[in-house]
Amino acid sequence: MFRKNLLQWYKANKRQLPWRYNQDEMADPYKVWMSEIMLQQTVVKTVIPYFNKFIDRWPTVHDLAASPQEDIIDAWAGLGYYSRARNLHKCAQQIVQDHNGVFPKEEKELLKLAGIGAYTAAAIRSIAYNMPANIIDGNVERVISRVFMLQTPIKQNKSEIKDKASQFIGSFEGNHSDYAQSLMELGAKICIPKTPRCEQCPVSDMCHSFKNNKQLDIPKPLPKIEKPHKHGAVYVIQNYKGEYLVERREEKGLLANMIGLPTSKWVKGNSKYEHENIYTLYNFQHIDEKVNHVFTHFTLQLTVYTAKAPIEASSNQYFWITEDKLQSKLPSVFQKVYDLAKAQDS
Ligand code: SF4
Repeated sequence: MFRKNLLQWYKANKRQLPWRYNQDEMADPYKVWMSEIMLQQTVVKTVIPYFNKFIDRWPTVHDLAASPQEDIIDAWAGLGYYSRARNLHKCAQQIVQDHNGVFPKEEKELLKLAGIGAYTAAAIRSIAYNMPANIIDGNVERVISRVFMLQTPIKQNKSEIKDKASQFIGSFEGNHSDYAQSLMELGAKICIPKTPRCEQCPVSDMCHSFKNNKQLDIPKPLPKIEKPHKHGAVYVIQNYKGEYLVERREEKGLLANMIGLPTSKWVKGNSKYEHENIYTLYNFQHIDEKVNHVFTHFTLQLTVYTAKAPIEASSNQYFWITEDKLQSKLPSVFQKVYDLAKAQDS
């Protein structure tokens, strides 16, 4: 009954998304994979233009594998969690070299590919290949926690959620692709975090939280843990042609291989940051307003220093790029810095 109700509801209510297939065709594994990687930690609305841009530019896995990695990383700018872009390229190359350009169906083989974990493997198997797979994303975790009225916070309860969700997979014959998507869609559209729309829910008859009027209390929250705080300086330097001085960041670590503005080291807590050597080369003004950014593992506050460069200069570490290119390549934290410097300048 749970599955039947869900599938009926999905058929009538599913959103048209660029990676979803139409009635008569099966989903393209390349598009399913691309969308699932982009959707990790990122909302659908943000992903759609990036997905369309990537598919236009690299219509097949062969095109993506043959592209320079830097082009992929630059096109990913603004989407965050940049290791995904590097893994996207590596995985495309593995698919082409080891699997003749065809995504494997077996979980064991999928898990050997860069950036593909249990969730993405299950998504490719079920959505693209219509195979039974227990897909658990954040939306599904919330739905299952509420349907079974689970009392433990989601982060500490992964295996119970997986067990409960698998009950619906075991006896399910038929459209695995739609079933997997319907459960995620229910979490995205109806069983939403703060204000679940239980009156519109196709599985409310089977939902223990709803029957006990506990839908607003489940899932239980985790106790809050403060993120460490860092701070530092960032330098916005423009030359007489209107170009900006940038660097290609190191290959490992935060924002690896991305285009970035020059910065000092970011230091923790009350420690004082040291300016980089570049600070001595120009006549900097500092902006009173700070830029704040939240990364997964820490929060960051940057003091912005701006300067006009009297002469064109570059080095192994730094190079100049035009304003157009800068805007399309910067990760979000540096985009905020650029926006602030621009607002001050105008
Ligand atoms: S009845 Fe409400 S709480 Fe239960 S699954 Fe549906 S939307 Fe979520």
